[in-house]
Amino acid sequence: MSYDTQPKASHFIDGAYVEDTSGVPIPVIFPATGKQIATVYAATPAIVDQALASAHRAQRQWAAMSGTERGRILRRAADMMRDRNHDLSVLETYDTGKPYQETIAVDATSGADALEYFGGLAGSLTGEHIQLGEDWVYTRREPLGVCVGIGAWNYPTQIACWKGAPALACGNAMVFKPSEMTPLCALKVAEILHEAGLPAGIYNVVQGLGEVGASLVTDPRVAKVSLTGSVPTGKKVYAAAAAQMKHVTMELGGKSPLIIFDDADLDNAVGGAILANFYSSGQVCSNGTRVFVHEGIKEAFLKRLTERLSNAVIGDPMDEATNFGPMVSEKQMKIVLDYIEKGENEGARLVTGGKRLNRDGFYLQPTVFADVTDDMIIAREEIFGPVMAVLDFSSEEEAITRANATEFGLSAGVFTRDLSRGHRVIAQLEAGSCFINSYNDAPVEAPFGGTKMSGVGRENSKAAINHYSQLKSVYVRMGDVEAPY
Ligand code: NDP
Repeated sequence: MSYDTQPKASHFIDGAYVEDTSGVPIPVIFPATGKQIATVYAATPAIVDQALASAHRAQRQWAAMSGTERGRILRRAADMMRDRNHDLSVLETYDTGKPYQETIAVDATSGADALEYFGGLAGSLTGEHIQLGEDWVYTRREPLGVCVGIGAWNYPTQIACWKGAPALACGNAMVFKPSEMTPLCALKVAEILHEAGLPAGIYNVVQGLGEVGASLVTDPRVAKVSLTGSVPTGKKVYAAAAAQMKHVTMELGGKSPLIIFDDADLDNAVGGAILANFYSSGQVCSNGTRVFVHEGIKEAFLKRLTERLSNAVIGDPMDEATNFGPMVSEKQMKIVLDYIEKGENEGARLVTGGKRLNRDGFYLQPTVFADVTDDMIIAREEIFGPVMAVLDFSSEEEAITRANATEFGLSAGVFTRDLSRGHRVIAQLEAGSCFINSYNDAPVEAPFGGTKMSGVGRENSKAAINHYSQLKSVYVRMGDVEAPY
């Protein structure tokens, strides 16, 4: 292999790579071959303590710098990420199995966007002045302190930056734990931030499984936890954080609806449904996996969808022509195969796909089920793989009611040429990140996050600033104090 995937060490703490081989070894597997490409070691309690202590020690000085100075470092790191996009994308592809064609376009670049955007905002963070007659109140926007970021495996570079950039812009320090499935990319983010001038201790990465995450969440030095993960993990982490009244951001799973009306441009709607289900081999939290298609256009939609899916280039993710890669792990592939079997057993019509590919690695075919009903497991549970469920509907009201009949509320989309219907329907859908005649765009300027069981808080945009800072209000009396006695 020409590219060295073995990191210098497992952890990045206090501005340097740190190794401790007494931790549990974590093999890093390239999903396209099933071969091991690196080993890292889970953080021992001593490593976790070292990371938290260095973050705690460094944070006050970082917060004492001006926002403009902090922002300059983040923007420099953004430029470096763009300069190194090729290498970072190759690493992201090794870590996740996602095709290079995808990673070169969306991973390090999206991370760089976050560093640039929050770097730009850092100098503009202010409190306000509230005049009350002669007296007045001023507010100070203060950092929270040490923030913990815990990542999922589908977007390791992006998640490390989406959490780190706003946290650091606001003057916090971060300890980030990647998913044990994809431990490589966050280390590069830490390396680049420090090369860009970040003081030691402000952005640390520790490896480990859930128990390392849990030990970070419960440490009293930690003020905030931001998790990207599944709903069951979210519940545990939220509860643990609540015990010490910590701030939280929860970016969790979904089973989002995409409603396609009979007046929609068919090719755009099919394109939207493809983006909503098959990008990153379907391993995207905001995916629109319940595709409600008006009964009048259902067969035309399925025909066009099948034609277009037959053009997917499935293969070596390092090949620039490949646009559909393997699942992240054997475990995830088996979970998805199990759901496909359930769909078939429940009587859904398998329109295309449904099989594992006969080759090394964890490859599945893009899969579409039609005639799916609301009660089927494949319409209710998050599959997190390339499996689209197509459901029929006849009226707008019915589609909205059924779209909302889920515990999740991350995303929702509508395809229609009728603009007032588009806005009217989106307004009634219970979801945090919505799309009209599009799907899965996630620019850093727009808030991203869920409602209901899909999470609390928002990442990206100015909204994220509120989740990584707190307001102190200061009442200033200009005259004498009048006390009753
Ligand atoms: P998990 O919920 O299994 O894990 C998420 C992270 O939490 C991992 O780093 C995991 O560590 C860690 N973790 C597990 N248990 C604990 C615990 N008790 N305390 C602290 N940390 C813990 O999710 P996956 O990694 O499997 O990712 C897939 C899920 O993520 C999907 O459900 C998807 O919807 C969701 N997701 C949500 C996104 C969003 O923005 N809303 C974006 C991307 C994914 P380890 O893996 O090492 O066990």
